[in-house]
Amino acid sequence: MKVMVTGGSGFIGSAVCRHLLLDLGLDVVNIDKLTYAATEGATAMLERHPGYSFHKLDIRERGAIQRVMEKEGVDAIMHLAAESHVDRSIDGPGAFIETNILGTYALLQAARSYLDGLPEERRLLFRFHHVSTDEVFGELPLSGGLFTEATPYAPSSPYSASKASSDHLVMAWHHTFGLPVVLSNCSNNYGPFQFPEKLIPLMILNGLEGKPLPVYGTGENVRDWLHVEDHARALALVLTRGRTGQSYNIGGRNERSNLAVVQTIADLLDEARPLPSASRRELITFVGDRPGHDLRYAIDARKAEAELGWKAHYGFDTGLRKTISWYLDNEAWWRPLREARYAGQRLGANG
Ligand code: NAD
Repeated sequence: MKVMVTGGSGFIGSAVCRHLLLDLGLDVVNIDKLTYAATEGATAMLERHPGYSFHKLDIRERGAIQRVMEKEGVDAIMHLAAESHVDRSIDGPGAFIETNILGTYALLQAARSYLDGLPEERRLLFRFHHVSTDEVFGELPLSGGLFTEATPYAPSSPYSASKASSDHLVMAWHHTFGLPVVLSNCSNNYGPFQFPEKLIPLMILNGLEGKPLPVYGTGENVRDWLHVEDHARALALVLTRGRTGQSYNIGGRNERSNLAVVQTIADLLDEARPLPSASRRELITFVGDRPGHDLRYAIDARKAEAELGWKAHYGFDTGLRKTISWYLDNEAWWRPLREARYAGQRLGANG
């Protein structure tokens, strides 16, 4: 099986490429425009693999993408390419509309034309897997409730609205044109190769350097954290076992307030690399809240667990320890990104 992965040089896409190729033995065709969010290090270990190929392309280039589908003879598409950072969507929504909405539209049309040319037996097995976020559902109260697959869409940010729009396009292409799609909505991810502007890497790296740990508002906002390797395993199962026209919610049952996440990172860093005098909790500062900041996200993953046989392996504390060790051991990856591309002005409360 040969899978086209869009956005395969980003944080989650690269974890998906590594899982498909190295754990499952599938072939991977990575399509990525290589925006600021892409890093070569995340796919460096795949480059010499005979089952891996890379094409530097914008997903909006419909004709070129279709030619790659035909040349490579792909059996499935996993669509992860996106603008993904909420703060950037507030500063400049245009790129989110272009990539997340128009890019998805171009990819859907390319897939339709490609499928028209496939023999029936291959057409029946083909899947278009759209990878989305739980942020399309809006926010939950702190007091309770979970997002299910039946929760109505109510996106709050330009990012989540653009992802919601792309989800609707994907489902419409299924209902109207019979495109064999599956869709997944996942909670906040963390793990290796996450760009240093996002909450967890930002706090690890600021904490390591003894810099302030800026928390939005009071830090009460709750996110449901999932290790990226658990997400990659879930995505492969959605692709291979998911029913067409269905969506699957994916989450780790690891709800934490942003403040609790930052405090845990501070404590784990104190353990791994003690500061001479202070505790890192003293570095926590509270800053003005993000506009439209959703209060709480939490996923009911029972459908994915029951139908796909998936379960998260990592508890949050184990996953976070492993992630901190990875950042401590991989300064050569993050140092240039932090210095060259990230000037320290963003807060990084992703999702
Ligand atoms: P990321 O920003 O780390 O990576 C996105 C990748 O897409 C980058 O490699 C970038 O170069 C590429 N890309 C962007 N625009 C492109 C274009 N026009 N053409 C081709 N490639 C382009 O994002 P991520 O965190 O890995 O997220 C991947 C997907 O998963 C996104 O669709 C996101 O909405 C979804 N998601 C993310 C999270 C999370 O916590 N990060 C949670 C749930 C769902």
